[in-house]
Amino acid sequence: MRNSASDPIAPEPPSLPSPWASPERIALMEDARAFARDVVLPIADRLDREKGEMPRELIEQMAEKGWFGLTIPAEHGGMGLGVFEYCLVSEELARAWLSVGSILARGQGLGTQTLDEERRKTLLAKSAKGEWIGSISLSEPDAGSDLAGVSTRAVRDGDHWVLTGKKRWAGFAKGADFIEVLARTRDPEEGEPRSAGLEPFLVVKEPGRFPAGVAGTVIDKIGYHGFLTFELELDGVRVPESDRLTGLYGDEGAGADAGGFAAVQRGLNIARVHTAARAVGVARAAVEDCQLYLQEREQFGRPIGEFQALRFALADMAAEVNQARAFWRQAAHLLDQGEAAESESAMVKLLATEMAVKVTNQAMQLHGGNGYTTERRVERYWRDARLTTIFEGTSEIQRRIISDRMLGKA
Ligand SMILES: Cc1cc2nc3c(=O)[nH]c(=O)nc-3n(C[C@H](O)[C@H](O)[C@H](O)COP(=O)(O)OP(=O)(O)OC[C@H]3O[C@@H](n4cnc5c(N)ncnc54)[C@H](O)[C@@H]3O)c2cc1C
Repeated sequence: MRNSASDPIAPEPPSLPSPWASPERIALMEDARAFARDVVLPIADRLDREKGEMPRELIEQMAEKGWFGLTIPAEHGGMGLGVFEYCLVSEELARAWLSVGSILARGQGLGTQTLDEERRKTLLAKSAKGEWIGSISLSEPDAGSDLAGVSTRAVRDGDHWVLTGKKRWAGFAKGADFIEVLARTRDPEEGEPRSAGLEPFLVVKEPGRFPAGVAGTVIDKIGYHGFLTFELELDGVRVPESDRLTGLYGDEGAGADAGGFAAVQRGLNIARVHTAARAVGVARAAVEDCQLYLQEREQFGRPIGEFQALRFALADMAAEVNQARAFWRQAAHLLDQGEAAESESAMVKLLATEMAVKVTNQAMQLHGGNGYTTERRVERYWRDARLTTIFEGTSEIQRRIISDRMLGKA
């Protein structure tokens, strides 16, 4: 990988200004930044080309730092921190590789909301230690933005449920300790929302293989490597009643309010702000690489960074990244204050991810022909940024949530 002159050091990494700063947060940010630069970036450079999955050792190193339990209360073995710190670490990791920023979301108590209270406590402790890392399998071939259209069936059989159907886009499904599967236990009754009868189930498994009744086919993506992403065929998968999860997934397109459970809504809002922070990380990587490249590359007898058009383009990019960062920090702060912040979460997801697409595209332009090669990282940032407006609710769905809040539902 040939990148820029003083590769891979960020020229001027962002600071943590007042009112957000505290010695603990600065230490956390700097630790994540050093880890991203020294450990994650070299792995990303190697494995992105091979469309490879991040190694388990990398996950274990992050687990040792306690990052899978950033938001899990200390009484359950977590760090007991907030959405702000979770996003702070994730921005730094995504600066090196988007998927590594994403894997943190597969801890944080995911897949622990079981009906059995004792089991829940055990799983929370495992999640905090990075020993309970999940895959989330909500989407299906015919149900993406419209999750209420999920058709995978869960049929009761004594003290078990039997799951049958086709899921799509299950990231990390093979490497995970469990797959959280959204399935339909019954059809909605007259007057009920379409999401009525949808429930999440835990399919517990060994990392590295699929359990009985699950067949997985890798989807060949153009980016977001580090995760393998699967289409899953579920054929009579047995799940004990104790592994049915509490909470109801609402209609994502309707802002998940159909089910009306505040905890689920909060989870979706956190995911949106977390996606914004990851998008900022990717865009920042592109800006930092440009900052170096503009000083290194010479044309017409001078560094291209002396051409005003390019200087101004870089300035615009940096300003937009900073703006999006300030916005995710504000939205995360609101969530940490216990506010619903539904509009803010949708707005920051929309703006930060659209910004990342624009900025990484411009970064490729500033790299000229070299940007359109696999010799530089900018093409990876461009491919990865492109996903951020699609997953975790598309830009159109975020606009729908925001406008529904402003005008009522159409
Ligand atoms: C790489 C990748 C990883 C993913 N990882 C996961 C995962 O781990 N787990 C998981 O469950 N899912 C995952 N997803 C699925 C992801 O959440 C969906 O792709 C996303 O929600 C969009 O759904 P869709 O692809 O079916 O698009 P569609 O819903 O078919 O949308 C097609 C287009 O129509 C627009 N549209 C749809 N409805 C409306 C509307 N009401 N108003 C206006 N426009 C609308 C969309 O914005 C989009 O532009 C992943 C997807 C990708 C690509």
